[in-house]
Amino acid sequence: MTDPACIFCKILEGDIPAVKVLESPDCLAFMDIGPLAEGHVLLIPASHVETIDKMSAAGAAAMLGLLPRLVGAVQAATGCAGVNVLQNNGPAAHQEVMHVHFHIIPRNPGDAFHFNWPAGKYPNGRIEELAEAIRQELD
Ligand code: 5GP
Ligand code: ZN
Repeated sequence: MTDPACIFCKILEGDIPAVKVLESPDCLAFMDIGPLAEGHVLLIPASHVETIDKMSAAGAAAMLGLLPRLVGAVQAATGCAGVNVLQNNGPAAHQEVMHVHFHIIPRNPGDAFHFNWPAGKYPNGRIEELAEAIRQELD
């Protein structure tokens, strides 16, 4: 399934160019055109799905099965000290291209990419309450 208005579907269809690093029947990995660091790669499923919660388990497994090899290759090729694997899911989470993608971002001490990580604390009982709500949604 492709969406003719989607930029990543256009890349999959060969309608616009991309610098590819890995291709399979289920997914494609290519260089991000606006890298947060040199060697920033995107991994996408070969069929159009907007967000990860809408993917089939098989589709997600096929795509994520390539992650260890891809992350290893990015690390080896760039010599980076670490990698962030990032999936922005939904516009509120900074997803701008509405075709599921995983960012593989090389990291080094003192680099320019910073997280705001405002770790909070739960009031008594809240952590169990939320876990139970999530468990119920999983059923
Ligand atoms: P998002 O904010 O949706 O998680 O990230 C979208 C990513 O796609 C950005 O890092 C952006 O640089 C990249 N991107 C957007 N358009 C293109 C394109 O046409 N080609 C490539 N290679 N990357 C793109
Ligand atoms: Zn698409």
